[in-house]
Amino acid sequence: MTYPVASSPRLFLSPPDIGPAEKQFVDEAFATNWVAPAGPHLTAFEQEMCAASGAAAAVAVSSGTAALHLAVRLAGVRSGDEVLCSTFTFVASANPILYEGGRPVFVDAESGSWNMDPALLAEALDRRARQGRLPRAIIVTDIYGQCADWDPILEAAGRHGVTVIEDAAEAVGATYRGRWAGTFGAIGVYSFNGNKILSTSGGGMVVSGDRALVDRAHMLATQARELAPHYEHAQLGYNYRLSNVLAGIGRGQLAWLGQRIERRRQIFASYQAALGDLPGVEFSPELEGRRSTRWLTCLTVDPAVSCTSRDEVLAALEADNIEARPLWKPLHMQPLYRGTECIGGAVSEELFARGLCLPSGSNMTEADLQRVVRAVRCAFGCR
Ligand SMILES: *Cc1c(COP(=O)(O)O)cnc(C)c1O
Repeated sequence: MTYPVASSPRLFLSPPDIGPAEKQFVDEAFATNWVAPAGPHLTAFEQEMCAASGAAAAVAVSSGTAALHLAVRLAGVRSGDEVLCSTFTFVASANPILYEGGRPVFVDAESGSWNMDPALLAEALDRRARQGRLPRAIIVTDIYGQCADWDPILEAAGRHGVTVIEDAAEAVGATYRGRWAGTFGAIGVYSFNGNKILSTSGGGMVVSGDRALVDRAHMLATQARELAPHYEHAQLGYNYRLSNVLAGIGRGQLAWLGQRIERRRQIFASYQAALGDLPGVEFSPELEGRRSTRWLTCLTVDPAVSCTSRDEVLAALEADNIEARPLWKPLHMQPLYRGTECIGGAVSEELFARGLCLPSGSNMTEADLQRVVRAVRCAFGCR
């Protein structure tokens, strides 16, 4: 099938949505000369994120990846240690395991929420316990704005005393039984990248119920400087602190987070109403007890019943200059992780084969939405 050449401006998957509140905080940073990786916005942003999420302590850092790296260090992952990790996620979830010389083992998703399958995880932990080789940690992603099934995951991890790192990079503001994503693992991680629901252009955060852990993260993020008048270093640290200017953007974003989540949920509902009748199309489910932020609207196209394919839909969108993407390629399929063990794998492989995400930015207009809907319906034969 061929499509007409696009004449409309590029419509992005998840662009930043920045308002006057953010600008005011940034202006304040300039006016007070706090243009540094320290300052009042940083402290306030950390406190405000704690108040919103219910975490006891937080440290803002330069990216979600940096936050994950700190989390892996805090969990004590050393060379040769095994770490279980979601396979249906972005590569940054697992890379910090390699930074520390650990050995990832991937765990497949469940077909319901697309998050780590708690039954597979429990089985893997029980088997390893019997063999006397429990992993050092488990990294669980809350995927596409929806929490993993935390009750059984924490039960299994707790039974074996294994540290859980929660990669809530995509799920800022999502809840599970009323509690915020990021507060389920011993250590939680957020991302404030440009495409995330709360953006500081780039940034991230480590949160925890354990203040001492966050203090250690703070120290490692500031070159592991010891308390001394001179520069004293006993450990290997990093320069991972967030800028006070960007923390100002974060404060403005956080003040409006509720509205932006609401808008993303509306966008999801509009897509579902406009496209839900197409044969073979299924939208990502929101499971009981969970509130997804609908960071990205995701759907799958079943080629057996749909008279088109995921790739045809992507082509139709691209032809109208609309950015859309396949769902995450499972990490066990990535060339970087070739040969890495994966427990299960069929669910995430099928999601990757059939799934895509649609433009979902909270600043999309109704006309933008209609443009996407038209292009998708066009791939289904303009019905
Ligand atoms: C975006 C993302 C990250 C990385 O965050 P950055 O801020 O881009 O470094 C990690 N994990 C997941 C699941 C993500 O989506």
